[in-house]
Amino acid sequence: VRDGGSGGGHGGGRHGDGDDGDALVVLRDVDKHFGALHVLRSINLTVGRGEVVVVIGPSGGGKSTLCRAINRLETIDSGEIFIDGRPLPAEGRELAALRADVGMVFQSFNLFAHKTVLENVTLGQVKVRKKDKKTADGRARQLLDRVGVASQADKYPAQLSGGQQQRVAIARALAMDPKVMLFDEPTSALDPEMINEVLEVMQQLARDGMTMVVVTHEMGFARSAANRVVFMADGRIVEQTSPDQFFSNPSSDRAKDFLSKIL
Ligand code: ADP
Ligand code: MG
Repeated sequence: VRDGGSGGGHGGGRHGDGDDGDALVVLRDVDKHFGALHVLRSINLTVGRGEVVVVIGPSGGGKSTLCRAINRLETIDSGEIFIDGRPLPAEGRELAALRADVGMVFQSFNLFAHKTVLENVTLGQVKVRKKDKKTADGRARQLLDRVGVASQADKYPAQLSGGQQQRVAIARALAMDPKVMLFDEPTSALDPEMINEVLEVMQQLARDGMTMVVVTHEMGFARSAANRVVFMADGRIVEQTSPDQFFSNPSSDRAKDFLSKIL
């Protein structure tokens, strides 16, 4: 059994640690508490360039905190996090740039309610990436087309379905030309008939070579898109392995128990 401490470079058997040019996201011995609650326990995780890592596990296990730590929406108590070989900046302009490099898509779509769809996707390009408005508009329309909502460009988020809003949120993150995309249960708040349209956009992104960390309960997506499954429970990485191995023959009792409840 691979326990929490043994993740890191051994994860997919392909990637090394922070010194490896192929590693895009590296967490070393990351610990985090909320008061007395130990939510991340000695997390070691490496995500290689172009790799799709699906994080699954029971509620409360620390999956969202892990994502938020990678984007520095949460601070950590100890350990190190590197993005593309550089430690996470603490604040200021460098932090804004990091947030642009690490795109994040949440369960709740988090679009700017008082901006149009097009404005949602141009804003960061102008403010953070310093593009002129015309260039940003062009790029936004291209991305909206890519996620299948080009015809909604001039509407406001509330006029769109949940699935459309989530696809706009993906386009907005992509507009920053991120190095890695984090998805935290992106389909959990959607009506069932809208889940696939979002998963298909994510599948296509994966096929296009985007580096992705995806927290999801969509096991079909994990099976077909993941290079590696990371199983998290009680703040630890309990095991990380290929999807085939994980679904057919998980090594930990914790994962067996989890799978028996959801499959
Ligand atoms: P998951 O995403 O796997 O469900 P989370 O990372 O959201 O897990 O939460 C891990 C634990 O940390 C849970 O027990 C949760 O209640 C707690 N937690 C999350 N965010 C906070 C916070 N801001 N303050 C206090 N406790 C929190
Ligand atoms: Mg969560």
